[in-house]
Amino acid sequence: SPVLATPYLDTLNPAQRRAVTHGVGSERPAPLLVIAGAGSGKTNTLAHRVAHLIVTGADPRRILLMTFSRRAAAEMTRRVERIARKVMGEGASVMIDALRWAGTFHGLGARLLRDYADQIGLDPAFTIHDREDAADLMNLVRHELGFSKTQTRFPAKGTCLAIYSRCVNAQTPIETVLTRSFPWCVAWAAELRELFAGYVEAKQRQNVLDYDDLLLYWAQTMCDPDLAADIGARFDHVLIDEYQDTNRLQSSILLALKPDGHGLTVVGDDAQSIYAFRAATIRNILDFPAAFSPPAEIITLDQNYRSTQAILGAANAVIDLASERFTKNLWTDRATGALPQLVNVRDEADQARFIAGRVLENREAGATLKQQAVLFRASHHSGPLEIELTRRNIPFVKFGGLKFLDAAHVKDLLALLRFVENPRDRVAGFRLMQLLPGVGPTSAQRVLDHIAAATDPMEALTSAPPPPRAGDEWTAFLGAVEELRSGRAGWPAEIERARLWYEPHLERIHEDATTRQADLVQLEQIAGGYPSRERFLTELTLDPPDATSDQAGVPLLDEDYLILSTIHSAKGQEWKSVFVMNVVDGCIPSDLGVGSSDEIEEERRLLYVAMTRAKDDLHLMVPQRFFTHGQSATGDRHVYAARTRFIPNALLGLFERTAWPLAAPEPARSASQGPRIDIRAQMRGMWR
Ligand code: ATP
Ligand code: MG
Repeated sequence: SPVLATPYLDTLNPAQRRAVTHGVGSERPAPLLVIAGAGSGKTNTLAHRVAHLIVTGADPRRILLMTFSRRAAAEMTRRVERIARKVMGEGASVMIDALRWAGTFHGLGARLLRDYADQIGLDPAFTIHDREDAADLMNLVRHELGFSKTQTRFPAKGTCLAIYSRCVNAQTPIETVLTRSFPWCVAWAAELRELFAGYVEAKQRQNVLDYDDLLLYWAQTMCDPDLAADIGARFDHVLIDEYQDTNRLQSSILLALKPDGHGLTVVGDDAQSIYAFRAATIRNILDFPAAFSPPAEIITLDQNYRSTQAILGAANAVIDLASERFTKNLWTDRATGALPQLVNVRDEADQARFIAGRVLENREAGATLKQQAVLFRASHHSGPLEIELTRRNIPFVKFGGLKFLDAAHVKDLLALLRFVENPRDRVAGFRLMQLLPGVGPTSAQRVLDHIAAATDPMEALTSAPPPPRAGDEWTAFLGAVEELRSGRAGWPAEIERARLWYEPHLERIHEDATTRQADLVQLEQIAGGYPSRERFLTELTLDPPDATSDQAGVPLLDEDYLILSTIHSAKGQEWKSVFVMNVVDGCIPSDLGVGSSDEIEEERRLLYVAMTRAKDDLHLMVPQRFFTHGQSATGDRHVYAARTRFIPNALLGLFERTAWPLAAPEPARSASQGPRIDIRAQMRGMWR
């Protein structure tokens, strides 16, 4: 065979190179597992492997590449292009455009299900419910079954959904899930079973799928040998990053795609498994080799290219205390660097002030804002920081969900688009009809029942007896739905049409209509980035774009901005400078997490993931007072916090400890600051 110049291989270490070239050129490369710690180049290796496959003649249309977020998929595709360009020049772009099956498990599942809808008896126009919609539907069914009225202590809708989701994703019977994870709900097993049956039926009647269904339906499709063979044969190579965070359904899909493992590559790190709460299991990665015979090739990587020795040493020490681990510790030949800092601050307000100040100092010293990130456990923890950043004019982008997508007015407009796409979607229909003056829940239900009973939902909507007091508004509503459904306006112009219908309602309902209107215009701009209404709704629901500080939602392409992210959403990424907020007991581990030892271990891994995002400097923030949001039995309250148990005294030598403000005047104690200690909490704590 001709000798191909592959200069990019020279940038890799020998183990990485073996992973990249493994089986390349053979018709059926044997299954491959790359398992290694943070920053060892797993993702980089995967990108090189995809590029190498393409450069050596693989058909990019026949490559299935799965990552955990759309952002990660886009980043991976960009990397692949950069690498392939070194050999193919401009020709690489065409090849990369053909890499169409790169995305998330859920997103790709939705696409496959639409492709195969006819063959599995599904209406391809299905809409997708996000968690909130799903909880609303669960609630609706619960009411219908009468569980909430008679039995007041029945689990809340969110809990019901969590239980349901766990059963589905872990493929585990309800009794087991209840005993293991929701012991306080064990008494409701029979009712929950009935509720879930009703929920499944409601979804089918309404032609909606929730997140879990995308995997569940896909897995179920793969149980049919002909369909499985057909789908499997579409792809020569199936590659997955972050495999430690997949669940049983996902592994069953994978094995059904490639039963003999040929063409499969999975990459991951058991020490970074942080999605057990969504039924992810490290068994997937640990059991992968033996799922095939001969077993999969295993390649481990042991050099970390990301962090300084000081940071890596501290992170290694934290994870070393874990009870169970497969991957080995990494080494780095990067300079020692400054010790990671443990910064004591009085409270969350000081924490925000410290971070904002330090971020600006870093910028003075030459680091851009984009090279810095602030990580936190839960999205709402960044509130005080967001205020402080805004006050100081520091632009930021918050990963993990555009905030305005949760806003009522944006949800209203999206509900209209969803209803147009699928008039059986009851949660969407109910929301919309409630907007019309004179339409109450009962008359809305009546129309929705009428639609549900009909074969042609649109015909049923127009012929349904109008709610008695709706008048012209009803006619206008029908007119808007019909026109949008006709597709006359075209995409994305139809959003403007939708907005014109909605605006009078917006003005009637909300006092601050003008700002809200601006959001809707933004939504139109975002929509412009998607090829169709269906893709827009699907992808927005599955993986909303990131929020920016100016609420715009449109990426500030050229501007510099600071990254705010939950630790979960920061997976796989790296920054020069990283701040981790609230590294205190009660947050990491969370109050909720102190249940079982498995949960504690997951929290330890979460801290490890956070620490290993940093290249050059790392600040772990330890506020002495910490505000909890209704997580504990006592609801919202300030608690006196202590440094996380994952950094015991024995590890303190690996950190530099500072207090800020340095020379704090003794704070004047006023009533509003609350008591100095919470003696009652301390007393209770003695029995924990
Ligand atoms: P994580 O577990 O956090 O997802 P990872 O194992 O996927 O990390 P990468 O993100 O692929 O690691 O790589 C970490 C950093 O190391 C990146 O900046 C990458 O460019 C760099 N890197 C990886 N391999 C090499 C190499 N052989 N030479 C130089 N730099 C490398
Ligand atoms: Mg990675």
